[in-house]
Amino acid sequence: MARVLAIDIGGTKLAAALVDEAGSMLRSATRPTPRTDVMVALAALIEEVTGGGPAPEAVGIGCAGPLDLAAGTVSPVNMPSWRGFPLRDEVRALTGLPTMLAGDAQCMALGEHWLGAGRGSSALLGIVVSTGIGGGLVIDGVPLLGPNGNAGHVGHMTIDPYGERCECGGRGCVEHYSSGPNLARWALANGWTPGRTDGLDGPANGLDGTAGSRNGAPDVRNGAADARALAQDAAAGDPVAVAAFERGARALAGMIASTAAAIELTKVVIGGGVSAAGPVLFDPLARALDDVAGLAFVRAVKVEPTTLGVRAGLAGAAKLAWSQSRTVA
Ligand SMILES: [Zn+2]
Repeated sequence: MARVLAIDIGGTKLAAALVDEAGSMLRSATRPTPRTDVMVALAALIEEVTGGGPAPEAVGIGCAGPLDLAAGTVSPVNMPSWRGFPLRDEVRALTGLPTMLAGDAQCMALGEHWLGAGRGSSALLGIVVSTGIGGGLVIDGVPLLGPNGNAGHVGHMTIDPYGERCECGGRGCVEHYSSGPNLARWALANGWTPGRTDGLDGPANGLDGTAGSRNGAPDVRNGAADARALAQDAAAGDPVAVAAFERGARALAGMIASTAAAIELTKVVIGGGVSAAGPVLFDPLARALDDVAGLAFVRAVKVEPTTLGVRAGLAGAAKLAWSQSRTVA
């Protein structure tokens, strides 16, 4: 049976899978991202997934950014040993296969469009809300990557031009209001005491795993844990925690309405660790969108949580590989 090799590369985890044309995962494996010699670990992972079976037809890679798709290079913020690393050429040389590269959030969007909550949407925005905020656009079934692969960077859209300085150097970016660590930061500054609703442990595959797989900075685990505790406290009715999510949701709503106005979005799918907060995020988000959106086509955009979760990135990488495979055939 024909299959492609999908690879998802994050700061804390490398994942690979063989995926057939219907989207079924035939074989998969993960391992931690080492601090150095990442390519050695990746080669071993690829061998683990592909060894002993028929060769896949193509390879698709989703990698944490920033990246330069024209050059095929990546410089993931949380992987200091890769700066301008020629990932596409290295994997092509290693496997001898056609190799496609895109950003991790772009792959999440493509995966949700193929197999998840975005199926059938003509203009989809996928958003990953975790330690940072990433995004990807799929227009008429095709990922919109941009000349250098940077399209969909919705986390750094300005929703308040008089707002605070963002880590990216810009001002008033939505990430500065709505990412997990920034939700927790605002709550702490406004009197939130984490854990007053202790004893409501979240699922094992909740905020930690998802956030870590997308980002993985040394302080990520604390940030993710803070966001999870904040979500628990918001669900339990802590007023500051509730307010933090309402503020973050309002910033997200501004970004979503602006993007919808620019390109007539029909669907938004939200994944990433913070999306696991569920109604404490999505309910105020729906209210905020109802308030900020005006034009009928903007008001019509549908916002849904991810249905693929952490597998969305691999699914999108596989779809990328299938599109390449067809181009070559
Ligand atoms: Zn920014």
